[in-house]
Amino acid sequence: MLARNLRSCSRLFSTSNKLASNGIDFELSAEQQELRTNIRKFVADEVIPVAAEYDRTMEYPWPIIKKAHELGYLIADIPEKYGGLELDMVSLCLISEEVAYGCSGIGTAMMANDLAQSPLILCANDDIKKRFLGRMVDEPLVASYAVTEPGAGSDVAGIKTKCEKKGDEYIINGSKMWITNAGHANWFFVLARSDPDPKAPAGKAFTAFAVEGDSAGLIRGRKEINMGQRCSDTRGITFEDVRVPAANIVGAPGEGFKVAMKTFDKTRPTVAALATGLAYRCLDVATQYSTERKAFGTEIYNHQGVSFLLAEMAINCELARLMTYKSGSEVDAGRPGSYYASIAKLFASEAANQAATNAVQVFGGAGFNTEYPAEKLMRDAKIFQIYEGTSQIQRMVIARQLLARVKQNGGY
Ligand SMILES: Cc1cc2nc3c(=O)[nH]c(=O)nc-3n(C[C@H](O)[C@H](O)[C@H](O)COP(=O)(O)OP(=O)(O)OC[C@H]3O[C@@H](n4cnc5c(N)ncnc54)[C@H](O)[C@@H]3O)c2cc1C
Repeated sequence: MLARNLRSCSRLFSTSNKLASNGIDFELSAEQQELRTNIRKFVADEVIPVAAEYDRTMEYPWPIIKKAHELGYLIADIPEKYGGLELDMVSLCLISEEVAYGCSGIGTAMMANDLAQSPLILCANDDIKKRFLGRMVDEPLVASYAVTEPGAGSDVAGIKTKCEKKGDEYIINGSKMWITNAGHANWFFVLARSDPDPKAPAGKAFTAFAVEGDSAGLIRGRKEINMGQRCSDTRGITFEDVRVPAANIVGAPGEGFKVAMKTFDKTRPTVAALATGLAYRCLDVATQYSTERKAFGTEIYNHQGVSFLLAEMAINCELARLMTYKSGSEVDAGRPGSYYASIAKLFASEAANQAATNAVQVFGGAGFNTEYPAEKLMRDAKIFQIYEGTSQIQRMVIARQLLARVKQNGGY
């Protein structure tokens, strides 16, 4: 057995030159590097100076949203045909990562647009794209993805909001919960049950719609006060006989569940990027502090117990970034699938939480205090293990895909 392993190793080594010459390119393209330089400047000038104040007041960051729209960051995912920039997924990840480095609450408010727009980009017809994506280009608007309900989050097939066809319209009744941007959204992507038969398979029982924010009967709840990312707007919404034209169906009637799930293959990489950005911020502030703060006659960085905490953070930051860009590249290569998107989202979320906990530790007492940056980072980090699929749900997706791959290929 050992001999066989060694033989296969020597085969690998004998071809290593060939592999190296065709090797993987880890460099960003010139355009992506330029984008990163520009967004870093935007974040340094517009986001970092005001992040703590937005966290304190919990106000929605409209001035930043408007500036981001002006610079094109808010329409980066929209196809050129509808006036957007149609950037590649790695570029979208760069935008997410850099904004979250400045403030992941502002990052979530911005990237919630991508979450609402993605099902339309992937599955809507030309008319819906023109009407709903086109206006996002013309004006600095925000939109929401409304799927979760008070009674069902992880178990999406358990949602109860229903829609009934009446002539050329559907009537929607029910309620949604924890919807990002809900207080400000110009329109909502909404998933509702169209087949009342509880035995109907999820893939045929739900229909997805683009719903106007000013529809009669659409009632927005109060702003929820969350642990972190406090300037991001999270609310419940109630639908009381909300009439939506059948022309606003995203995808085909009955196929809404697939539309809602497919979206995550494209959006989980950018959520992973948000988490990665936060993790890097933790690493930077903690490293900086460790070279200034002294204990036992030396900068605390010189204590191995501290520098090893930073080393662990650095390792996870690098790996989170690599996996995030890979998951984005998979989409760019036309191989969207939940496997890499879930691995990236899971790993980056865990990395962000580890980095935030370590950052607080490195700051000591100051880490627990609101005058210093670490406590906000720790509060902001937690949501990454919850929204767009909890860490448990990501593990379920990965395990399911792993089994499918093993069955298909006879081994991994
Ligand atoms: C700030 C914020 C913003 C959000 N934004 C949006 C948004 O814009 N749009 C939207 O639609 N939703 C949004 N959500 C909802 C979010 O996606 C859900 O909260 C999340 O999917 C978890 O659902 P839940 O809260 O119902 O928890 P539950 O599904 O009730 O889960 C509770 C716990 O049980 C675990 N669990 C559940 N099922 C399993 C299982 N089979 N195996 C193992 N563990 C399991 C979960 O991992 C979790 O730890 C947001 C939530 C928050 C807090």
